[in-house]
Amino acid sequence: MQTPKAFRINAKDSQSKDALFIKLRKVGYYMKFYQSKLLNNYANLTHAFTTKSGGESLAPYSSLNLAFHVGDNPLTVQINHELLAKKLSYEKRTLVHMKQIHSNIVKIVTQNDNFDAPPTCDALITNKKNIPLMVMVADCSALLFYDDVQKVIAVAHAGRAGAFQNIIKNVVSSFVENFHSNREDIRVSIGANIGACCYEVGDEVYEEAKKLELEYALHKKNGRYYLDVNKILKTQLLEAGIETNNIEISDECSCCLREKYFSYRADGITGRFCGVLMLH
Ligand SMILES: [Zn+2]
Repeated sequence: MQTPKAFRINAKDSQSKDALFIKLRKVGYYMKFYQSKLLNNYANLTHAFTTKSGGESLAPYSSLNLAFHVGDNPLTVQINHELLAKKLSYEKRTLVHMKQIHSNIVKIVTQNDNFDAPPTCDALITNKKNIPLMVMVADCSALLFYDDVQKVIAVAHAGRAGAFQNIIKNVVSSFVENFHSNREDIRVSIGANIGACCYEVGDEVYEEAKKLELEYALHKKNGRYYLDVNKILKTQLLEAGIETNNIEISDECSCCLREKYFSYRADGITGRFCGVLMLH
C-alpha cells in the first residue's frame, strides 16, 4: 500500500534530522513518532515525540490531537490518549499533562497526580516510576530531560514566552535543588518546533528581546524580524550547566512541515502533538 502523502518524508528531511533523531517509527497501522538517540540509550525510559499521524480526530485536528482545549471532540481526544498509551505501554490514567500557560512554573509530580487533574504549569519533574509526563505543542518546543544518576525525568513547554522567562533555568534548578542532580548528568532532547525560517515577530517582541539581551536570536529579512527560539534554548541550557554533548535539538520546523506536525502559526485552529517521557 502506498504511504499517505502526509507521512512521506522528503530527502532533505531524512538527511538532516537523523544524525540526532531516530527515524519516524511506525507503530500499529498509522501512528508514527520520533525517538531521541540521546534518550534511547536508556532501557529504563519510555519516550516519544509524536506526529499528526495515528489518531482518530477529524480535520482540523486530524489525527493524533492530544489537547482538550483546542475545540476537538473530548471523547476523541480521550481515544487518542488511549491509543498512544497502548502503543507506548503505559496506563493513560497515570499520565500527567499540564494546563500550559506560557509561564516558567515547574511542578513536582507525585503519585497523587493523575490524568484528570492536570496542574497549571509549564514543566513537570519527578523521580517516581511509571508516571508518564507529557508536554503538548504546536510550534512551541517540547523539552525532555533525564538524569540517569539520580533517575529523575522532566518535561517542559517553551515557546517564545517560556524562552524569554528562561523556564530552562527553573527546570535545571529543580533537578539540582530537589533531586540532588549534578548538572553534567542531565540530558536534554528538544523536538520539532517553529524555526527561524517561519517565526516572524513584531517590533514589540524585538524590543522585549533587546531588553532581555536576546537580540542574538533575531535576524532581519526584508525589513521583518525572525526569532530563533532554539538558539535561546541552547544558550540557556549551556548557561544552566548542561554539557553540549548532552543536548539534542531537532532541526525540523513544525511550520514548514505542517503536514507532519501540528502548527499553530501555519493553521491557527489545529491540534497538539507531544513529547512524553516515563521512568520505569
Ligand atoms: Zn519553517
